[in-house]
Amino acid sequence: MNTILDQKHIMLRVEKKHVENQTHATLFFHHALCFKPGQFIMVWIPGIDEKPYTISFHSKEKFAITIEAKGIFSKKAIAMEKGDLVGIRGPFGNGFDIKSQGQKAVVAGGCGMAPLAPLVENLDKDTIFIHGARTREYILYPDRFKIERLFCTDDGSFGHKGLVTDLLEKQITSGKHLDMVYTCGPEIMMYHVFKICEAHHIPCQVSLERYMRCGFGVCGACVCGRQVVCRDGPVFGSAALREMKDFNTKALLKSGKEVALSQYFSWRCK
Ligand SMILES: Cc1cc2nc3c(=O)[nH]c(=O)nc-3n(C[C@H](O)[C@H](O)[C@H](O)COP(=O)(O)OP(=O)(O)OC[C@H]3O[C@@H](n4cnc5c(N)ncnc54)[C@H](O)[C@@H]3O)c2cc1C
Repeated sequence: MNTILDQKHIMLRVEKKHVENQTHATLFFHHALCFKPGQFIMVWIPGIDEKPYTISFHSKEKFAITIEAKGIFSKKAIAMEKGDLVGIRGPFGNGFDIKSQGQKAVVAGGCGMAPLAPLVENLDKDTIFIHGARTREYILYPDRFKIERLFCTDDGSFGHKGLVTDLLEKQITSGKHLDMVYTCGPEIMMYHVFKICEAHHIPCQVSLERYMRCGFGVCGACVCGRQVVCRDGPVFGSAALREMKDFNTKALLKSGKEVALSQYFSWRCK
């Protein structure tokens, strides 16, 4: 667990920017970060704000974050260039519980690929890897992985036309035995992945997003039911999800007001 002493920002310069598509960019930093796939950092752009971002790439001396442009902070972040300065705190959160044995599946939706990417790089080659996006253009990291990916897009421009859950169901009904499913993406997608897993008695790990401020369980901004997402999550297993009434239903806005999840994620409809 991070102590109060870990809360000082480390100031880092952007080493490289990779533009993924119109709305996503990956920023690389030359810094050795002790990290577990699924953990996140708080990223501070001086004069703008501080926001949570998952680590999307990790090596001994480097790490990266992948940003989807939504509002003021993220638009500023994807506009950053080599040499620009950010502060980071963390990593925070639990990360994925990486099982050493058994058949695994990874189900990614859109920018949910970001926390799953370093996980995939730690899993066996026979892992079933499903990735969905709006269109071909929004498939993140097209050439990155050694593991074969099953693609789907909303418009059919790449891979199966339809949902990641179609592909997951197909794997299961065709007789594939799964011992663990890891997922990240829009919450409604993760909810349906969880429901499929429950129906087939497959344990599942889901990476949740809620409005975060402190990153280490003090402020309470990110509570989801009885869980504090930054401290107890962001990755939750099947047992916790069964008890979590706010999963796919409610979330707290920045103001602390409880709203329907559709309102919390209203930026998706813009
Ligand atoms: C654990 C965690 C990991 C994340 N990892 C990534 C990632 O790898 N890539 C990525 O693009 N995004 C990630 N996000 C979401 C990212 O933090 C928000 O997209 C970002 O804060 C948007 O800020 P904004 O000013 O651009 O948008 P705003 O206009 O302020 O908000 C747009 C939406 O972003 C979300 N958001 C805004 N502020 C916060 C906050 N402080 N905490 C959580 N969500 C917020 C809300 O859904 C909000 O409706 C992550 C969020 C969490 C909680």
